[in-house]
Amino acid sequence: DNEITKNFIENFIDEDNEANTYDKRVHTRFPPEPNGYLHIGHAKSICLNFGIAKKYGGLTNLRFDDTNPAREDIEYVDSIKEDVKWLGFTWDDRMFYASDYFDKLYAYAVKLIKLGKAYVDDLTGEQIHEYRGTFSKSGKESPYRDRSVEENIKLFEEMKAGKYADGEKVLRAKIDMASPNINLRDPVIYRIVHAEHHRTGNAWCIYPMYDFAHPVSDAIERITHSICTLEFEDHRPLYNWVLEDWDDPEGQKPRQIEFARLNVTKMITSKRKLRTLVEKGIVSGWDDPRMPTISGIRRRGYTPEAIRDFCERIGVAKADSMVDISLLEYCIREDLKLKAPRIMTVIDPIKVVITNYPDELVEELTAENNQENEEMGLRTIHFSKELYIERQDFMEEPIRKFFRLAPGKEVRLKYAYIIKCEEVIKDAAGNILELHCTYDPESKSGSGINANRKVKGTLHWVSAADAVDVETRLYDYLLADETPENDEDDSISDNKDFLSKINPHSLDVYHSKAEACIKEAAIGDHFQFLRQGYFVIDPDTTATHIVVNRIVGLRDTWAK
Ligand code: ATP
Ligand code: MG
Ligand code: MG
Repeated sequence: DNEITKNFIENFIDEDNEANTYDKRVHTRFPPEPNGYLHIGHAKSICLNFGIAKKYGGLTNLRFDDTNPAREDIEYVDSIKEDVKWLGFTWDDRMFYASDYFDKLYAYAVKLIKLGKAYVDDLTGEQIHEYRGTFSKSGKESPYRDRSVEENIKLFEEMKAGKYADGEKVLRAKIDMASPNINLRDPVIYRIVHAEHHRTGNAWCIYPMYDFAHPVSDAIERITHSICTLEFEDHRPLYNWVLEDWDDPEGQKPRQIEFARLNVTKMITSKRKLRTLVEKGIVSGWDDPRMPTISGIRRRGYTPEAIRDFCERIGVAKADSMVDISLLEYCIREDLKLKAPRIMTVIDPIKVVITNYPDELVEELTAENNQENEEMGLRTIHFSKELYIERQDFMEEPIRKFFRLAPGKEVRLKYAYIIKCEEVIKDAAGNILELHCTYDPESKSGSGINANRKVKGTLHWVSAADAVDVETRLYDYLLADETPENDEDDSISDNKDFLSKINPHSLDVYHSKAEACIKEAAIGDHFQFLRQGYFVIDPDTTATHIVVNRIVGLRDTWAK
């Protein structure tokens, strides 16, 4: 392996392997909370955790961090499994739930109480917050801090037995109220929540806090490298403190390593905000093709290969940064460039009648399936008297440098003939109904005497007789602003401000005309529509109604 391309996490693993810290084991985990659908930021974490383990011949656990009963649901568990699989990763028999460890977590909390390292506190949440102090002001000890071990054990058992209401008591770690690191000022490690848990039902009414449950779950699973995002850097001393008294059979304790969370321009990567969009009906669901969720991106037509390539290219950063969404778009173009068949679809059609073309004649023309990949072969398309071109490819009063169709002007129809616009047919209101054109019979592409006659514009088109009706969905970004503000903390509630930044025109629907071969396509099949971009068949498609999503436009068009 090339040393130069190693990232800082791999350097840490190399260090640990050299020091034999973990008998050269590499065992990572991906620990989502099942309280929403995964987004592009999670994709980065998945690729990183599974990717690094794979590179070192190690293992990766999928662990549901389900310690917050109020917000979690089986729907999210299922979607997360589907997303991880779709990205191309497998966990075999290594799927776990933090809730599987409730007994062990409880027992370890009891151990800490017995060691004099945890106590039951009666202060209210507000008081605890107030007593905690600030960065510049040291904290104040709770009057309940010096309860005896016996009393703490009794109270904790009573908490578990359901004797107290939510918020009446908490279990706190006894660390240091004067610590410059606020996370070490006696953090709460258990709280009372009388709510049904999606897996354990009503068996528990006390639930461990993240800062306690996470390190202990890692230790139970014998994770070696616990990779998380940068906002947990200040929690690392607490992570290590919690595990001080953990008995590992080999004396090995997991190591927390932080990396910068992925932020992408134009993409919201806060589950809370994404949930707001779904709940307010601003999008059609978690898998709306405009959503930066993995399911939305998948439905939009992105491939797992493109997402993995994107995650690889952005690398692993130690400082927060913003990746431009154009890199993601580049990755899908790169992936589909040689794979997707290229066909002609007229998104916003206007009818053309070739007045000097014989009424009944249908000609067979040969078209390439992919100009950049000869192996994809050729197909036959039909040319006849009536066809469709793109409304935007015609201007009645052309502006300067408009090289497409206009009255009295000529263009080439791709793979076919040069046509000239002779007459514009309108209705009483002045709307254009159709264009009457003539064709030059000598100008047939690849054959006629005038096959090489130069005209400035080449247009895509579809023969009216063969055309298949298609509903085309063109998307713009959901965010009007370039830079999203992605809070890492679900408690921040500035919903109003965020909703004002939502682009109200992020979906345009067209009734389009596609080449006949699109009828054979299945949901999820990809195409390049010549001059228009990459498209995918949407799951809304039925036997009688085809729906396509534009994934991304083409950077360059082959003709103006
Ligand atoms: P949110 O704040 O949107 O709810 P979260 O971080 O709380 O996201 P989790 O389900 O806890 O969501 O995340 C699972 C894993 O994915 C965690 O290890 C987390 O660090 C990682 N992760 C979440 N968001 C990002 C991101 N934007 N970039 C990289 N990793 C991320
Ligand atoms: Mg989280
Ligand atoms: Mg969160």
